[in-house]
Amino acid sequence: MTISQYALDMADKVEAFVREVVIPHEADPRRDHHGAPTDELVAELKGKAREAGVLTPHIREDGSHLTQRETAVVLIRSGLSPLGPLACNTNAPDEGNMYLMAKVGSPELKARFLDPLVSGQGRSAFLMTEPAGWQGAGSDPSMMKTTCAPDGNHWVVNGRKTFITGYEGARVGIVMAKAEGIEQGGGACMFLIDLPDPAIRIEEIPNTIDNSMPGSHATLTIDNLRIPADQMLGEAGEGFKYAQVRLSPARLSHCMRWLGACIRANEIATDYACRREAFGKVLIEHEGVGFMLADNKILIKQCELMIDWCASVLDTGSLGTVESSMAKVSVSEALMKIADNCVQVMGGLGVTDKTIVEQVFREIRAFRIYDGPTEVHKWSLAKKIKREWKEAAQTAKGPW
Ligand SMILES: Cc1cc2nc3c(=O)[nH]c(=O)nc-3n(C[C@H](O)[C@H](O)[C@H](O)COP(=O)(O)OP(=O)(O)OC[C@H]3O[C@@H](n4cnc5c(N)ncnc54)[C@H](O)[C@@H]3O)c2cc1C
Repeated sequence: MTISQYALDMADKVEAFVREVVIPHEADPRRDHHGAPTDELVAELKGKAREAGVLTPHIREDGSHLTQRETAVVLIRSGLSPLGPLACNTNAPDEGNMYLMAKVGSPELKARFLDPLVSGQGRSAFLMTEPAGWQGAGSDPSMMKTTCAPDGNHWVVNGRKTFITGYEGARVGIVMAKAEGIEQGGGACMFLIDLPDPAIRIEEIPNTIDNSMPGSHATLTIDNLRIPADQMLGEAGEGFKYAQVRLSPARLSHCMRWLGACIRANEIATDYACRREAFGKVLIEHEGVGFMLADNKILIKQCELMIDWCASVLDTGSLGTVESSMAKVSVSEALMKIADNCVQVMGGLGVTDKTIVEQVFREIRAFRIYDGPTEVHKWSLAKKIKREWKEAAQTAKGPW
């Protein structure tokens, strides 16, 4: 599938917008006490993106979504600044939530919950993970302890959630819970809800290593949350399947945005290395520095290829579960190395907040954990390798 001229033009427009309009706001002091951009700043930037014709650039005016390969060229450019995805409405968790609602939501649910998000009115949150101390869902979602039970024409949800990005200040939530008595899919259900709701209490919002996401990451108690039955997203018992529908493209979108951020960090580090002198020559002429930048160039290309390969698979209509696992591990680990090299090349300046290099380093560290830690993806790949070996071993002699 080729990339349309529309998508290529849109990517150029997004890059121009991010470089000319968004980057000057990186020093904007409107941050909350966790260091995340305030909703006031985000609303102003979204307004500018709307004027520039780059708001929600991955969804066309008729509501159709760009292909994943096209989404990649656009989202990488929106990621050139940590503020870019917020301004362009391509940020997490909204982008993944919009994708899921478009795939699974009824026309009524889309009109009520999806359309306002696409037009940039407000934010959303995805409520799946549960606190470790409660032995709830983490790397293993089947451990989910939050329950939902039918009550007349409502469902009643009780439980706890943690690391819920953007919960504080969100207007839409997607809640996951398990229903007793439904065998299919472990009884997992998904619901769309209006936020805030008094039945959901914020226990805490910890300070975290990252700070690009408004609302940060909240821990919540859900106490008798009553949800009208027609706000169930899709079918009862299909929740884990829908989570997979969301997670594969969502983790690839993270790869896209954070690749954009690392491309920019690498531009900054390269500029530093080509100007700054030590021991009689500019830093890049010292092999130790030049090799780090050479490695970065190779790793950036590796990430681009991995994203494009995985996007091509998703564009065939496949869930791409294995491919998105492989892409997520490969890209997040490569980006960590790129970001670390950028910090190192820049010496002391690299660890200050005078450039975005330091922030990109912190953000990528968290990315190695969310949407599946590296080890969990590798563990699941290893299980697949063993399955494949077993199948092959039944029909063929060993390779030795
Ligand atoms: C910044 C951030 C934002 C997030 N946003 C959201 C959100 O919006 N909504 C949401 O629902 N969740 C969110 N999460 C939660 C995230 O998806 C979980 O942190 C992740 O799934 C891991 O779960 P856990 O933290 O409970 O780690 P645990 O399950 O406790 O695992 C801890 C570590 O154990 C190792 N491990 C686990 N299983 C295996 C295995 N099988 N083999 C080898 N090693 C293993 C891994 O190294 C892993 O990092 C966010 C997390 C972060 C950090």
